[in-house]
This record gives sequence, structure tokens and C-alpha cells, in this order.
Amino acid sequence: MKKIAVLTSGGDSPGMNAAVRAVVRKAIYNNIEVYGVYQGYQGLINDDIHKLELGSVGDTIQRGGTFLYSARCPEFKEPEVRQKGIANLRKHGIEGLVVIGGDGSYRGAQRISEECTEIQTVGIPGTIDNDINGTDFTIGFDTALNTIIESVDKIRDTASSHARTFIIEVMGRDCGDLALWAGLSVGAETIIVPEVETDIKEVAERIDHGIKRGKKHSIVMVAEGCMTGEACAQELSKYVNVDARVSVLGHIQRGGSPTGQDRVLASRLGGHAIDLLMQGETARGVGIRDNVLRSTPFDEIFRADEHQFDYNIYELTKELSI
Ligand code: ADP
Repeated sequence: MKKIAVLTSGGDSPGMNAAVRAVVRKAIYNNIEVYGVYQGYQGLINDDIHKLELGSVGDTIQRGGTFLYSARCPEFKEPEVRQKGIANLRKHGIEGLVVIGGDGSYRGAQRISEECTEIQTVGIPGTIDNDINGTDFTIGFDTALNTIIESVDKIRDTASSHARTFIIEVMGRDCGDLALWAGLSVGAETIIVPEVETDIKEVAERIDHGIKRGKKHSIVMVAEGCMTGEACAQELSKYVNVDARVSVLGHIQRGGSPTGQDRVLASRLGGHAIDLLMQGETARGVGIRDNVLRSTPFDEIFRADEHQFDYNIYELTKELSI
């Protein structure tokens, strides 16, 4: 292994820069040249590929977003478009490609390794949603979680001053982890996630019960993939007379300087990606399970039901918010 490339793709997440830095530094430490592909798969097609040096990743570990930029590139699903990208990788003599992103980005990497067997591919899970199989945590999840906590703590101040119910809509299309972990962390009365069927009448009864026993405010945490905050407020108003306000946290959740957890995770996963490439592995995603680094074939990662929603945390949140 003499030359590799790295790209970030799909939705950005805090800690992607720390992962790129780890890939670049560990590769160079092992006498491997590294190229940065700018704008994800779009840059691969456009040959936006440039050599990275040790200094290229200086002063990046603390920055949110991705200095390599990310882009959605639906055309990359077309085999003939992918061939252009593969031709560019070959032109630069690249033997290994590290893709930092979500499921969709992994699919692009898998296609490359199928269509060009001499190029090894490794995926690093970068998304705030924590929705990738084969790892307990994705890069960016912890930062987003802390951003939500910080925001809700502020909302809580105004909620308790006015004895209000606040409905907080957080990101998470198919995965309720952000709502779950944030809900527990802020003492939410109710967490509404795609993994658990929620009876809104029961939620209303919980809020009503809380008001009757003198609670100053209630927090309902809802994952966007389940229902919008507005829809939740409308449903609740059918059963309980509360002054419910909705806060949609939106893109604020994707930004900011990565937390210590995310920097450590990104650095470890980035380093492990280089280990795999040097061992000749391909078409695998790196991850962490019970604090041990691991890797999983892309095929297994795409099997939908492996990432386990933690029902124990869900139940605990209920028990703690009576
Ligand atoms: P994420 O990686 O966060 O899941 P997307 O699903 O948007 O984000 O995927 C990012 C990019 O990966 C897409 O814009 C496209 O370039 C590429 N991609 C997604 N799905 C495929 C696929 N089935 N085949 C090839 N490339 C894909």
C-alpha cells in the first residue's frame, strides 16, 4: 500500500475533520501517501483530488464540518458515472479509499470495490444519527447529543418560568437514538421515537398527571422521523389543555466543535481504517463495540436490524419521569 485517498460524503457531522486528520497522519506515519478527494463522490468524478501533507490537517481536530467538503451526488449510483471516478483513482495510482459518511456513502464504496478489485475500500461511520450497524457509536453523535442538551437546558429555563410544555423536535429519520439519549439527559417526560409505537393519549395523560402533582414544566422529545413537533402538539391538544410550544432544533445539531468523545472516537476509527488497509482488507466499515475497535463487511452493515435500540434506556426514562 503506497497511496490512498480519503473523502467525506453525505450529511456532515462534527468529528469528520478529526477522522480525516487521523487517516492522513497515520498513513504518512506508515509511509503511505494520502490524497484528499474534495466534495465527496462529486469530487471523485471531477478529479478534485489533491495530495495532503502532515500540515494539511493541522488545526482541524477542533473544527466542526469537514474541510474536504461533502456533497450529495446521486449520479454516483450510475455505473458509467462511477467508472469516471474509478478512472481518476487509477490515474493517481490510488490503491485504497477511505470513505467517511453514512450508509449511502458506504454503498458507493462497496460498488467501487466490486467494480475495481485492485482498489480497497474502508468506511468510517460519520453521522450524528447513530444509525449505522456494526458500531455502538458514530462520529458526531456525542456532539449533537450535547448540543441538544445545552439547547434544552436553556429552553427549560423559560419553560419553568411559564409552566409550559415544550415539544422538542430533534434529528433522526429512522433512528431514535438522539431523542432517546437526549431525553434521558434532560429529564424529558416522554420520548417519541420510530422504534416504539407511542399512544399520544397516554402521553397527554402523563403530562396532565405531572401538572396535577405540581410539575412546573414538561419536556416531550420527538424524533423527526416519527412525527413533527407541530403534529405532536396538535395531537396532544386533543386530549390535554396545555400551553404547548414547539422547538425544532434543526441544523444546529450538526454543527459545532466536536466533543472529546467524538475526537477520540474519530481518531481511533481513522487509525483503525489505516490498519485495515495495510492488512489488505476491503469493503468493510470500522466501528467500536464495548470500547473495542472492530470492522464489519459492508454487506452485514446493510442488514437493517442489527443496530439495537436500547429499550432499557427507554424504560428507565419512563421510570425516572413519573
Ligand atoms: P449518507 O452517506 O449520510 O447516508 P447519502 O445517502 O446521501 O448520505 O449518500 C451519500 C452519497 O453516497 C450519495 O450522494 C451518492 O453519491 C452515494 N451513494 C448513495 N447510495 C449509493 C448507491 N446505492 N450506490 C452508489 N453510490 C451511492
